[in-house]
Amino acid sequence: MSNPVPEGDPRLERILFDETQIQIRVAELAQAILADAVGVQRLRLVGVLKGGWMFLADLARAIRRQKGPRVLYEFIRASTYGAGIKQGGEDLRQVAISGLPAAIRGDHIVLVEDILDQGFTLAAIRRQLLAAGAASVKVCVFLDKQLENPSAAVRGIRAGLVPEYVGFPVPDRWVVGYGLDVDEEFRDLPYVAIAREEFFQK
Ligand code: 5GP
Ligand code: MG
Repeated sequence: MSNPVPEGDPRLERILFDETQIQIRVAELAQAILADAVGVQRLRLVGVLKGGWMFLADLARAIRRQKGPRVLYEFIRASTYGAGIKQGGEDLRQVAISGLPAAIRGDHIVLVEDILDQGFTLAAIRRQLLAAGAASVKVCVFLDKQLENPSAAVRGIRAGLVPEYVGFPVPDRWVVGYGLDVDEEFRDLPYVAIAREEFFQK
């Protein structure tokens, strides 16, 4: 669990999950999603951009390999913290969502996101999908941040947003790679690493 970072980038502390670990876990998540979708004619996977793109791309192929039902794909754009990293102790709940899919009435949706942190983003998106008539919305996050000192408000949101599918729990640090960024950097790393926050404080 403490592999060095291959490129030796001093701004990254260590690798949390390498490519092999990720692919094994993604296949397991696909299996769990399909087990719950028995009898469902058509699944709609809704990816949250930008962070969720790599995870969704792998998940889609894992579902196909396991001969799932027909799957339709949609993408929502959500932006919660703007550029940079979240500063310590901050409770930000401004979530900008765009690109909500039209005509989802009666759909069984799996909402696919890179990471669950305070939960504002997914809570807002799920609320909007249900308001638009989705029959069900299950939440699939690749990473689930284990918050150390959540405020009462955040605890409340997290209690109401327990994801059906979680790839890995991660510590309460800023993580990058596999879709996740700092200021648009690192999204294309094929692994997940912990960033050294001191390099990115503004
Ligand atoms: P939430 O609304 O759950 O607090 O925020 C979730 C969003 O914040 C995620 O979709 C992600 O875009 C961003 N985020 C939260 N934690 C991290 C992190 O450790 N690394 C990166 N790159 N993004 C994060
Ligand atoms: Mg995100």
